[in-house]
Amino acid sequence: MNSKETLRDEDHDYGAVFVEGPISINATDLEVGENVELGSSKPWFHGRRVVELDVLARSMNCEKCGSWLRLSDIKDEVIYGMASFLYISCPSSACQHISLVPTGKKSNGKGFDINYKVCLAMINAGMGPSHLNNFLTGCNIPPVDASTLRKKQKELAPVIIEAAEASCKEAQREELECSECSELEGSFDAGWQKRGSGWSYNSHTGSSKGMEPDMACSMIQRLAEDGYTVGTLHADNDATTQSRLPRSIIKKDDKTHVKKNLSKRLYGLSKNYKQLKSAKVIPYIVRCFMYTISKHQNSKQSMKTELATIVPHIFGHHEQCSPTWCTYVKDPTKFRFKHLPNGKALSGDKLREELDKLAQNYIERADRLLNLGSTQSNESFNNSVASFAPKNRFYGGTKSLKARVSSAVMQKNEGYGWLSKICTFFSTF
Ligand SMILES: [Zn+2]
Ligand SMILES: [Zn+2]
Repeated sequence: MNSKETLRDEDHDYGAVFVEGPISINATDLEVGENVELGSSKPWFHGRRVVELDVLARSMNCEKCGSWLRLSDIKDEVIYGMASFLYISCPSSACQHISLVPTGKKSNGKGFDINYKVCLAMINAGMGPSHLNNFLTGCNIPPVDASTLRKKQKELAPVIIEAAEASCKEAQREELECSECSELEGSFDAGWQKRGSGWSYNSHTGSSKGMEPDMACSMIQRLAEDGYTVGTLHADNDATTQSRLPRSIIKKDDKTHVKKNLSKRLYGLSKNYKQLKSAKVIPYIVRCFMYTISKHQNSKQSMKTELATIVPHIFGHHEQCSPTWCTYVKDPTKFRFKHLPNGKALSGDKLREELDKLAQNYIERADRLLNLGSTQSNESFNNSVASFAPKNRFYGGTKSLKARVSSAVMQKNEGYGWLSKICTFFSTF
């Protein structure tokens, strides 16, 4: 009992073990049927374990005489990843047989379930083996050998990928079922792994722009092969994306990108026109445009007409302004621009000319600004991928990345219950 009492002093010792690294041995002699990475040879009463109480409770009888076993009679422990086999001696002095007691379930003759679970949990949390082990040693739980984790991940990857593909097929079917016509309306936005990625050709060109239309085209092609026609596509209004898509597809801009591009062009102009440099000016102009575009989503002509009034308004000519958003008409003497410097209109022929040109550009492609979709869901999905496979960590080029992206797909399609779906796919753990 003395040895257990010293435990409090050494509560946190797995950090040290982790540095030494676990010992790898052939475990066939332990009748577990596979080579496994064994954890540390620290005594069983050190640190913490993740235990399935139900499994443990039902195994606490002597294999030979059936007497109740006691945890205090543990003679030895062999750790398999996050689980262990405990060697417990029978308390009956006549028997003294040593029974082998597992701390968790093993399904279908594979390894301990917890070791697959911990691997899925690792993917779900966007961690890699070393992060997981930093976490475990922080809790003073024996770390899991990184090669064990990679091995489990390799086994799980095809399962996750297959499940994600199945769930995408299902989502396509549902989408078509609830769409009004026989063609799908989709949105597209590319997300990029900064370092080597599944789309490794990207990292060599150094530019992602050229890849986007190719990706959009091949996605549309693949959907077509499955019998789904994309009729309308909301995408970045990048010219290359638009020109390389099949002609039959109606191209639509999306709100986020319209806004981004407009701001970008105005900030570009601000290099030469210092009136635009004042903090509130560009956001105000962007708001004027976006308000007009949003207000006239259903009518091209009224959108065009109102877009044409914005620049004159900003330059103090309110003849065409609609009283719904310009208060000049109500009381011209008291009118001030709240968001322009000193409450005054912008001025200067050159700037006026540039802004007219800009407005004209939007007027000309008003039909693409109608019924704007949003690629916001694409962006949120791209963010989700980034949390499963953080760009600053290297999961590139391998099945690991594909499994991590598939996990993000599963989470989007199935919600947070995706983990249990994988478990039913895999077996019954
Ligand atoms: Zn016994
Ligand atoms: Zn006005």
